[in-house]
Amino acid sequence: MRVVYSEDMVAPAQGGSPSAAKPTAVLAAWRARWPNLVVRPPVPVTYEEFCRAHSQSFVDDILALRLSNGFGTRSGAVNASLPYTSGAMLTAARWALSEGGAVAAPVSGFHHAHWDDAEGFCTFNGLMVTALALLAERPDLKVGILDYDYHYGNGTEDILQRLQPDGVVHVTAGEVWQQPEQAEAFLENIASDLESLGNCDLVLYQAGADPHVDDPLGGFLTTSQLALRDWRVFHGLRERGIPVAWNLAGGYQTPLSKVIAIHENTMRAAIEGNPPPLVAALKSGAKQQGLVSASG
Ligand SMILES: [Zn+2]
Repeated sequence: MRVVYSEDMVAPAQGGSPSAAKPTAVLAAWRARWPNLVVRPPVPVTYEEFCRAHSQSFVDDILALRLSNGFGTRSGAVNASLPYTSGAMLTAARWALSEGGAVAAPVSGFHHAHWDDAEGFCTFNGLMVTALALLAERPDLKVGILDYDYHYGNGTEDILQRLQPDGVVHVTAGEVWQQPEQAEAFLENIASDLESLGNCDLVLYQAGADPHVDDPLGGFLTTSQLALRDWRVFHGLRERGIPVAWNLAGGYQTPLSKVIAIHENTMRAAIEGNPPPLVAALKSGAKQQGLVSASG
């Protein structure tokens, strides 16, 4: 499995979210379990690339610390990480496009970032920065954004409505799926979501950990159901031959090890793609095999 990472992507956790510091902890957990990960550093995105997805005055105000970032703070360390967090997503997307398969960017903090507003732990929208950077080079490209974070991707939607770009298909689960009684229907609907992305050349997948039923900011899927979500996404995209760059998004359980356990299960799904014993266990409700417990 390929991962985009460098310490440049990381800043001290702040504003009540673990996200800024999470890449290091997640990579360490992944490496402990899968020592053969291939890691490449992110190419930072440029000022011009930020300005494709955001108003220039907003980008200027954020970078000059005249406006608070998505964590509600004004932090030079967070600002220094921003070209690398979006850059990790863009680098992962380019890597997936050039070689196929799945590439991980262990970053968060994208989908609530609007055209000219930072909110919800999100400053710049790395999903849209990535999609628009790729479309600027290849206008014929079709990029899917599959947002399975618990929360509605309102920032992504805002940028899409403002710019109306051809070539971006946006699916955000938080618009519809939120209650535990919807869990089975959500899992069944993944096939339909993948169908709507069927013509895409690349999918950006936000594998949010905050849909977990124990998450203080989310909560409708069990550990097994989250793992099945990820398996269906990676397996479905692989069957369709669509490359995927995926990232972490939200996850607010404490201690952080519970969130990291969910990100480990996502990596397992990305690597194994189609592990019959795991899926059989999930479907039968039998004892989970190989899954990392994300609660208790
Ligand atoms: Zn979220």
